[in-house]
Amino acid sequence: MSESNLAVFLSKIEVSESGCWDWRGAKFVDGYGNHSFQVNNVKITRAAHRWAYWKWKGEIPAGMEIHHKCRNRACVNPDHLELLTREDHRKLHPSKLQDVCKRGHSMADSYVDKTGKRIGRRCCRVCMLESVRRWQEKNKERVLTMQREYRLRRALQ
Ligand SMILES: [Zn+2]
Ligand SMILES: [Zn+2]
Ligand SMILES: [Zn+2]
Repeated sequence: MSESNLAVFLSKIEVSESGCWDWRGAKFVDGYGNHSFQVNNVKITRAAHRWAYWKWKGEIPAGMEIHHKCRNRACVNPDHLELLTREDHRKLHPSKLQDVCKRGHSMADSYVDKTGKRIGRRCCRVCMLESVRRWQEKNKERVLTMQREYRLRRALQ
């Protein structure tokens, strides 16, 4: 890796207030920066954040992925990058992959909410039960009234 490659790389970043090194060069369609450089007169293009990790932190073993702790895909600050297995990485991006809910419960037995505006949205069973329980706790009086009314109606039938 020649120093001119590093100079080119550094000329394409802008340090933001949050400490992110925002990539100002070309980007892949998914928002990750791409960094092209010459090795023995051959042009190589790599994801800029992977290049940064490799340059300052070390090799990226095959199959491992780089996660942005700052959640900014265009960031190439090596301190904001974390090496993760594919499995661990998935857990951090549940909305994209939907294997787990926001709070990390398995979505394997989730159900699809077909009511109202949320048609087709997958809901986590554990979180849903918990939110019902919380609602009941907050609305104890109302729940008791509902139960009384229900019993009354049954008795009148
Ligand atoms: Zn960052
Ligand atoms: Zn990530
Ligand atoms: Zn959940």
